[in-house]
Amino acid sequence: MKYIEEFRNGDLARKIATRIRAEARPERSYSLMEFCGGHTHAISRYGIKDLLPGNVNMIHGPGCPVCVLPIGRIDNAIELATDHSAIVCTYADTMRVPASNGLSLIKAKARGADIRMVYSAADALRIAQDNPTRDLVFFAIGFETTTPPTAIIIRQARALGLANFTVFCNHVLTPAAITHILESPEVRELGIVPLDGFIGPAHVSTVIGSQPYEYFAEEYQRPVVIAGFEPLDVMQAILMLVRQLNEGRAEVENEFTRAVTREGNEKAKSLVADVFELRRSFEWRGLGEVPYSALRIKETYAAFDAERRFGIAYRSVADNKACECGAILRGVKKPTDCKVFGTVCTPENPIGSCMVSSEGACAAHHTYGRFKDIEVRAA
Ligand code: SF4
Repeated sequence: MKYIEEFRNGDLARKIATRIRAEARPERSYSLMEFCGGHTHAISRYGIKDLLPGNVNMIHGPGCPVCVLPIGRIDNAIELATDHSAIVCTYADTMRVPASNGLSLIKAKARGADIRMVYSAADALRIAQDNPTRDLVFFAIGFETTTPPTAIIIRQARALGLANFTVFCNHVLTPAAITHILESPEVRELGIVPLDGFIGPAHVSTVIGSQPYEYFAEEYQRPVVIAGFEPLDVMQAILMLVRQLNEGRAEVENEFTRAVTREGNEKAKSLVADVFELRRSFEWRGLGEVPYSALRIKETYAAFDAERRFGIAYRSVADNKACECGAILRGVKKPTDCKVFGTVCTPENPIGSCMVSSEGACAAHHTYGRFKDIEVRAA
């Protein structure tokens, strides 16, 4: 396979679906979490759930970068623009995530704050160079995929001696979140979330490799299959998980061999290790405080750390009471369980973070019409 169309071939998808239906044993169920928002998007967009037998259940995980960003961190970014008069740059989806007091970055921008959308971390560096008399803060978010570019611009800023450039670092880590889910009462004690196996992230794994997942497979006896983001990748990963579970295996398998190795990208990992270190704890939307689940800028690069330069104080802010994002991110509820899904909360007017990005579970369900029960309820 060389071209993208081949990974979206309907005949092949139906063949894999036939195999899944043949091999999934009727006497048991298969509850599989797709950790990553890219997989959630693919499952909704291509109607993968409709091809699966009823006893193979997909559970959405917390792997959507803007979905897990807590309100307090967005409030901090807005304050950098309003109280410190900094230019704040960030990726597009982050602009629309609801913050406190009915605000978001884009609404704060409409009120006059200098908040700009960038396509890459390098764009933020260029804007800092173009505005030497202004402080520029790059509001850095995302999992291991977007962390290396942030490390690169911090090193470049130091090499260029840029005094007006800092990074507000909110990079988070996949393995810590998976451990947290597996240790949660909903999974361990209450059994509310039956979790038999994981579809592992694609892009994240190109950086960290498949090796970090070996711990879950061994320690928690849960199989992991790393998969690409195309529909055939996801279908194949589901079949591989069904086979592992049938055979009583709990191993890490790699469906995405065209991009992922066991070791990952050594250069990217060493860049990240040079610039960042682990935080003791970090609040995730939906998961709460998760130990050692995020990165901060090392002392060596303190001059480029917005938290140090501007004395940012974090305060936790509760989500909108109507919003079920927290439960959805923990796999406890589905988007259609939320009373305001598709009515008050839509992609045009997101009430919670899961309705913002195309990787968010609520936005993916809404965009691709996977909410027939809501349509019936609203009729
Ligand atoms: S539909 Fe909107 S309010 Fe409900 S859980 Fe999803 S994002 Fe939150």
